[in-house]
Amino acid sequence: MLNQCPTCEKTTGMEIIHRLQDFEIKGEKVTIEVSLYHCKECDSVFSAKELGDPFKTAYDKYRQQKGMVQPEEIVKFRKKYGLTQKDLSDLLGFGGITLSRYENGALQDLAHDHILKLAMEPRNFIELILQNPTFAQDQKWKSVLFKLNEELSLIEHVDMLFNKTPPDEFNGFTPLKISKVADVIKYFCYNRNIYKTKLMKLLFYSDFIHFKNYKHSITGLRYAHLPYGPVPDGYELILGAVLKSDPNIKLEPVDFGEYSGELVKIVDPPIFGNLSETELDVLKNVSSKFEYFSSKAISIKSHKEDAYKGTNNSELISYIFADGMSLE
Ligand SMILES: [Zn+2]
Repeated sequence: MLNQCPTCEKTTGMEIIHRLQDFEIKGEKVTIEVSLYHCKECDSVFSAKELGDPFKTAYDKYRQQKGMVQPEEIVKFRKKYGLTQKDLSDLLGFGGITLSRYENGALQDLAHDHILKLAMEPRNFIELILQNPTFAQDQKWKSVLFKLNEELSLIEHVDMLFNKTPPDEFNGFTPLKISKVADVIKYFCYNRNIYKTKLMKLLFYSDFIHFKNYKHSITGLRYAHLPYGPVPDGYELILGAVLKSDPNIKLEPVDFGEYSGELVKIVDPPIFGNLSETELDVLKNVSSKFEYFSSKAISIKSHKEDAYKGTNNSELISYIFADGMSLE
């Protein structure tokens, strides 16, 4: 904290203020909130390193608006396969320090962003390695291939079970994506004690409210009418796939004698690379609405929804019911 004003040298008036500031990035306006020191004595303002890097924040926001890969996602992707910056640069054909610059927050050019995004899809990543014999023969890359094949068989398994028919009113006109389910789970459960039973209802409200506002669901989950409320169809299988594909999500059994449940634990601070701005917005509203609801309270509310009252036991619930739903 800055104690003395560099302009008037008084020590009595320094405070931190926040204001909106426009940045121009590649010809486009990006507005972010910046933190500054303000001197109440002489009204000067100062930026300072310890108050965060506004350029980094502006680039992050720009990337989010454009659907570009974020630096943290590149790091996460690379480390997931145990690769060094050089390994990945060599494979992608990026020059020496390019990848390191991107991981440190420099704005990637669009061609590189495109390559990164493609490479982050397991099917493409496998192809990329196999196309290049020097990589494919290498022991290190063989273990990457092994990991990718495991990942891919999981995705194919899920597709076979849940995405064999074209998207319809029961999955909110969206194919099921395990990576998005994982992101939503991380959003709700990071730094909070959320039980599996409550999480199921949070997923339901998120998908349905997003459908109501934007005409498609977030995750592509189908929900079924079960005695204790709407629940993702095949949730044990789906949760299994999520846990297997994302080591950052863990289940922790808790036992209070009479009552037992499972807490969802998020190990590291998450990033939400698979979610759009409208999706994050809906998650924020759902999260704040139900912050103080117990598993039981949210279950009781869900029983009163048309989506639940209008369907019978074990039936799938159409997203069309979302029209009558609200968080009020
Ligand atoms: Zn001053």
